[in-house]
Amino acid sequence: MTDPREAELLATVPDGLFVGGQWRPAEGGKTLDVRDPSTGEVIRTIADASVSDGVAAMDAAAEAFPSWAATPARERAEILRRAFDLLQARKEDVALLMTLEMGKPLAEARGEVVYGGEFLRWFSEEAAHVQGRYGANPEGTGRMIVTQHPVGPCYLITPWNFPLAMATRKIAPALAAGCTVVVKPASLTPLTTLYFAKLLEEAGVPAGVVNVVTTNSTAAVSERIIGDPRLRKLSFTGSTPVGQKLLQQAAPGVLRTSMELGGNAPFVVFDDADLDKVVEGAMAAKFRNIGQACTAANRFIVQRSVVGEFTRRVTERVKTMRIGRGTDDGVQIGPLIDDRAVAKAEALVADAVQRGASVTTGGSPVDGPGTFYEPTVVADVQAGSDILREEIFGPVLAIVPFDTEDDAVRLANDTEYGLVSYVYTESLARGQRMIERLETGMMGLNVGVVSNAAAPFGGWKMSGLGREGGAEGIHEYLQTKYTLTPNPFA
Ligand code: NAP
Repeated sequence: MTDPREAELLATVPDGLFVGGQWRPAEGGKTLDVRDPSTGEVIRTIADASVSDGVAAMDAAAEAFPSWAATPARERAEILRRAFDLLQARKEDVALLMTLEMGKPLAEARGEVVYGGEFLRWFSEEAAHVQGRYGANPEGTGRMIVTQHPVGPCYLITPWNFPLAMATRKIAPALAAGCTVVVKPASLTPLTTLYFAKLLEEAGVPAGVVNVVTTNSTAAVSERIIGDPRLRKLSFTGSTPVGQKLLQQAAPGVLRTSMELGGNAPFVVFDDADLDKVVEGAMAAKFRNIGQACTAANRFIVQRSVVGEFTRRVTERVKTMRIGRGTDDGVQIGPLIDDRAVAKAEALVADAVQRGASVTTGGSPVDGPGTFYEPTVVADVQAGSDILREEIFGPVLAIVPFDTEDDAVRLANDTEYGLVSYVYTESLARGQRMIERLETGMMGLNVGVVSNAAAPFGGWKMSGLGREGGAEGIHEYLQTKYTLTPNPFA
């Protein structure tokens, strides 16, 4: 670590577990290393929680729950709003921290602070707007009262690709609803969450309301917490196979669950689309976060009459992309998260080429240090190629031609995932037909990025259960009670 600003910032990140309002070492003083994927260097060593540390965090969340649930909504809202303001004041630090531990270009990390911060503002507003109902029953014999209540202590598991936003998207609605939480960030990128927990403390979140457990014993620690009878809710963002396993673990306790899982987004381009807008949207939908987003366009399904022009134009743009460490000026492509991610991109491209596709630019890993893969365009991808079925999670743009609208719909829906789709057309009627025909929880119609704190984010099919953000988001952390009382006039 040579840059003094980076070293100074990293030294401000707590290295302990955050349990019951205290920063403390892991049992037995165990630690885990966090690395910068652009260099492979260890940048911070932090606590590595044991199962009993996980139980201590669960104890703290359970103990803090009654008083936090009874805290007036306005007070909870104001704490979240203070956290939003503090995050704006620390924007540069949080952005740099994400770039250091995850690798994304600094400009994108700043964008994530804006996006992630909006969940704090949105749910500070939503906290005071939770509504109930009161009314006569149809028979006229009674009065029906419907009220909302926090579900209880929650376990929140986040992935490494959006270290801040995936945490705020869960913590903010949970706290707004009156729930307490144990947060487990990805072991590859825990520093942003630790820094954010300190910020929440400063914003006035009481002891035990937010607890953070960082661990390399993820499966054992999580299984114990999920099996704890005091836990009432599990919210997970990550891969579909892990989500399936966690759903099984959640079944005995009949836990409420939210699952934000994998994607395989189609990006459909019709020949009546405006190609300038298409290329802009394609670059954002594919290369944001170095292609490592659940919402990343995975399959570019392009009408045959424009596929040549589309391929030429995206290839030209991709050739100009700058690869490097995310902190360097003008870098658009940082490192992939680890060696496995590079190997996966390599294997998917090799399989596509072996089945008849052609690489128009890129197609190779970049020599170390760091885990870089060139931004790549693969044209004429053939049916049956792995790249059409698997989540690429890297900077590889795969193109498949189609002839008719029915073909486009069939190809787009030919996946077990259903998170998001993108459609480009200047025809209103066609756009409306696609809204009704594509099997995804979200759609970008002539736009390449859809995420917004005010919108219900989530998937259909094997992309998940539940919604984060929007008016729906807080209800993931609330449970409904119906009460009947007699007609007071009877
Ligand atoms: P992952 O391997 O499933 O890990 C996600 C989180 O789950 C990490 O905190 C990880 O901890 C934890 N985990 C792994 N195995 C576990 C187990 N057996 N029990 C309990 N927790 C476990 O996914 P990833 O590679 O980090 O993230 C990429 C995936 O997330 C992609 O599939 C992407 O599409 C998906 N994603 C979805 C959304 C969405 O909103 N739908 C958003 C972002 C990402 P460790 O780090 O300690 O292993």
